[in-house]
Amino acid sequence: MKILIAEDDIVSSMVLRQNLQKMGFDVISATNGNEAWMFYQAQPVKLLITDWMMPVTDGIELCKLIRGSDAPYTYIILLTAKDRQEDKINGLENGADDFMLKPLDQRDLEARLNVALRILAMQEQLQQYSQEQELMKEEAEIQNVQLQEALKYSKEANHRFSELFMGLPIACFAFDSDGCIREWNRTCEELYGITADKVYERRFWEVIARPNDYKTYQRMNAEVFKGVKYEGMEMTVVRPDGQTRQILQNTFPLHGPSADVLGAISAGIDITDRKYLEKQLAQQLQIEKKLSQKLDQQRSELAAANARLSRLVITDGLTGLKNHRHFREQLQQAFSHSQRHHTPFSMIMLDVDKFKEYNDTFGHMAGDEALIAISNVMEKSVRDHDITARYGGEEFAILLLSTDANQAMFVAERIRHNIQSYTWPKRLVTASIGVSTYTDDKEDANQIVDEADKALYFSKRNGRNRVSHYDINLAGMANPESMD
Ligand code: GH3
Ligand code: MG
Ligand code: MG
Repeated sequence: MKILIAEDDIVSSMVLRQNLQKMGFDVISATNGNEAWMFYQAQPVKLLITDWMMPVTDGIELCKLIRGSDAPYTYIILLTAKDRQEDKINGLENGADDFMLKPLDQRDLEARLNVALRILAMQEQLQQYSQEQELMKEEAEIQNVQLQEALKYSKEANHRFSELFMGLPIACFAFDSDGCIREWNRTCEELYGITADKVYERRFWEVIARPNDYKTYQRMNAEVFKGVKYEGMEMTVVRPDGQTRQILQNTFPLHGPSADVLGAISAGIDITDRKYLEKQLAQQLQIEKKLSQKLDQQRSELAAANARLSRLVITDGLTGLKNHRHFREQLQQAFSHSQRHHTPFSMIMLDVDKFKEYNDTFGHMAGDEALIAISNVMEKSVRDHDITARYGGEEFAILLLSTDANQAMFVAERIRHNIQSYTWPKRLVTASIGVSTYTDDKEDANQIVDEADKALYFSKRNGRNRVSHYDINLAGMANPESMD
């Protein structure tokens, strides 16, 4: 450490210097107060030992100068022969820290310098501490400014949020854990028909709900403050002007930073019109459903009537067999099909024997009954997909699909036999049958009918109650009609 000594007595100065150097100090020596002050100004030191009595600037003057400067603290020891109490007070008042009496005692010097060093060290610590304090103060000030700004921002944000909340097009109100209303926006005023000043601090259910719904809302209030959200709750409210409104409400808790519930907000929209339209729509749908059921019923009645009609169109009125027209259509189809696929089909033509006589004997009614009986026998004698028709009067025709000549003859014979074997109430009734079969050389459906007809008359001419096939019995005859 550097130490400045100011001593006009050369010998004392040298002795002091040596002692100090021995103690490890780096010594700067000035021979008077003036010189010491110049050295000090050039390079301030922390430790000064100065003689009191010096020419021009004495020790006290030097003390005053140093204390008047803004250099860091310097510990000043005054060397003096004086030991009067008032002198010491004078020295202390002018800035000295300690006194040493001349002549100097080495041990005293060491002790005092130790004190000086300790005080300087403390001084330094103090300075450091106050610098730190200063820094902390500055930091605290910065923080304070930041806090002020944050507060201002938060106030503005709060204000903006509040404005937003108040102007929301959804009816929003905020409430506390007692259910007391804290915020009530303009849309709430419109929807519930109550101004904000009339609702504050009132429990929201007492403001918006019908007494019957108080319990529901009280329960909801308790649940929301446990953190539960209520979404899509449909409620009816009655406004002070008597109007009822359907409201769709979503209510949710407002959480604080530590997840605790600070408050709650309920947002509602008016669904009165929507509900009304939904009801109208449901009624409309109900009407439409009834109409459509009626329409379906009418449609199926019509379909049934159509089916009946189309059955009637192809059915013979007396016997219930297919009629002549339908038979001809089916025959035409069978002919076309056989032409394409080269498969056979056959046709039976049947005529009741001596039926005029039967009519004449037993009456037309009995004749009709006989015709019905023959129809039944015929139908029972063929397969379901064969087409049995009343061809006209007491003539019948059967279309035997996928049936060749021999098979057709077999069926025809069975029919003839079944008619003959039928238990006739009046007298035996028989029929004559002619059969024809499709082969690829046949020109058209008329040829099939014509050949069946010719075979039938062949049977008639050959004694009736018999079966003939055109290709089998009449083939090769020059003039089959003339044969009797
Ligand atoms: P054949 O053995 O030669 O066939 O003699 P037939 O008497 O049966 O022949 P004809 O053609 O002379 O007479 C057919 C009779 O069938 C005439 C008619 O009165 C009768 N007939 C036709 N259609 C009906 C009908 O719908 N009901 C009744 N009851 N008779 C009918
Ligand atoms: Mg006839
Ligand atoms: Mg006849």
